[in-house]
Amino acid sequence: MQKKSVDVAIIGSGTAGMGAYRAARKSTDSVLLIEAGDYGTTCARVGCMPSKLLIAAADSAHHARHSDMFGVHAGPVRIDGKAVMQRIQRERDRFVGFVLESVEGFDQTHKIKGFARFKDAHTLLIDQHTEITAKRIVIATGSRPAVPALIADLGSRLLTNDNLFELAELPESVAVFGPGVIGLELGQALSRLGVRVKVFGRSGSVANIEDAEIRRYALTTFNQEFYFDAKASINSVEATPGGVLLSFNDQGGHPITEHFDYVLAATGRKANVDTLGLENIDITLDAQGAPVFDPQTMQSSAKHIFIAGDANNTLTLLHEAADEGAIAGRNAGLFPQLQTGLRRAPLSVVFTEPQVASMGLSLREIQQRYTALGVENYVVGQVSFEGQGRSRVMGKNQGLLKVYAAQDSGLFLGAEMFGPAAEHIGHLLAWARQQEMTLKQMLAMPFYHPVIEEGLRTALRDAHSKLSQAPALSTPDALKKSA
Ligand SMILES: Cc1cc2nc3c(=O)[nH]c(=O)nc-3n(C[C@H](O)[C@H](O)[C@H](O)COP(=O)(O)OP(=O)(O)OC[C@H]3O[C@@H](n4cnc5c(N)ncnc54)[C@H](O)[C@@H]3O)c2cc1C
Repeated sequence: MQKKSVDVAIIGSGTAGMGAYRAARKSTDSVLLIEAGDYGTTCARVGCMPSKLLIAAADSAHHARHSDMFGVHAGPVRIDGKAVMQRIQRERDRFVGFVLESVEGFDQTHKIKGFARFKDAHTLLIDQHTEITAKRIVIATGSRPAVPALIADLGSRLLTNDNLFELAELPESVAVFGPGVIGLELGQALSRLGVRVKVFGRSGSVANIEDAEIRRYALTTFNQEFYFDAKASINSVEATPGGVLLSFNDQGGHPITEHFDYVLAATGRKANVDTLGLENIDITLDAQGAPVFDPQTMQSSAKHIFIAGDANNTLTLLHEAADEGAIAGRNAGLFPQLQTGLRRAPLSVVFTEPQVASMGLSLREIQQRYTALGVENYVVGQVSFEGQGRSRVMGKNQGLLKVYAAQDSGLFLGAEMFGPAAEHIGHLLAWARQQEMTLKQMLAMPFYHPVIEEGLRTALRDAHSKLSQAPALSTPDALKKSA
């Protein structure tokens, strides 16, 4: 067994690990980046990028099929499943290639391949070949699909995001388990590409939407396009030579048995910390078994160990992994000094159509923080996009946006949206939240005409009108009328 000693060891070379590596290098040259699998990151290889490529193809098919309302008749749409998958793989490989170039640029002596496990608080075993003593350690091991026992034994008939994008062509049918971000993005995309899709949830959750009215709206809208039971009752799942036989009760409670080519497990993700040997070190874990950490410094209860990205099971998004990796790496480099890092206003987007976005404090957090003695100290403004000018022009007039603000100050707290251009409105609102803007300040910003953002203005005005002492708006009356 080889032995090495370093200042900083980073476990995992995904987005968080690469960010940590670059940041740690600013303080020390004694850094080791450990990777068990392929370089290239989850995001580029099997996550954000291939999923958005699949969605792009799906949206293209959908819009070609639904242009009749404009008097534009595209004729029957033919989907070439092989060509769809080939483009996804080609473009995915291109994105992965850029990541590989970056890793290639890292000092050769700073990289080691193998699976890392803690022997003790300062010692990592890499497979059976190397023992590393590290003064500081960053855990950036990411996450993996969590597959429930009910579908775990389907062998080659089980898809996850890890193998879906490797298919040579589109399947004929897929049962999607999981009503979250990944299940709905992929389920809708496959359905739009002509795959027979049924999406099954368990708890009633829909794309993690917290507001019950928006959630119901989204559920109804998705059901107009594909079968989606958010509270499904599955009776049995059985692998057959050519696929999977699924017995379930339909939304009317009638027992159905249906055959699918595959089951796609989109039933959540599990942080890769359970196989790290954390039991060999003195570190405080949360109920899910992930190390507890300070989100400003990424430091765990074991002071020399930092944790970033999906591994900490908190904000499992790409931009958060990048930020957290940079904070963790910088502090691992500077330790025992620590710097608090920049944490941005929360923003998440689901790339379904209509899209889902949430920004700032969640409704649950607002209810907890802004309710006292049973009295809500926050206001809710809302807009429906059904009659909204530009959304209607484009035939994308579906959806609902709710904005939340503090009753006393008019401070914008957060928002949830299911509707058109939510990815862009989400950014505007996240920026406003980070700038700690009030409704009045937001309404003093420019709104072009005719744009979907005018719907946002309607929601902001609605919230503003509910403030007990609504400060007068400087918006000209003429503008107030055009929503
Ligand atoms: C289908 C899908 C779609 C997504 N879409 C989006 C999106 O649109 N927008 C968005 O913001 N986010 C999206 N995400 C989430 C985003 O991809 C992740 O938040 C992000 O990639 C996490 O980066 P990471 O560095 O924490 O983990 P990873 O990139 O997974 O890196 C972890 C690395 O650690 C390695 N490793 C694990 N254990 C060990 C060990 N013991 N020893 C050595 N190495 C180890 C792994 O091999 C891996 O390379 C999506 C995720 C999925 C699955």
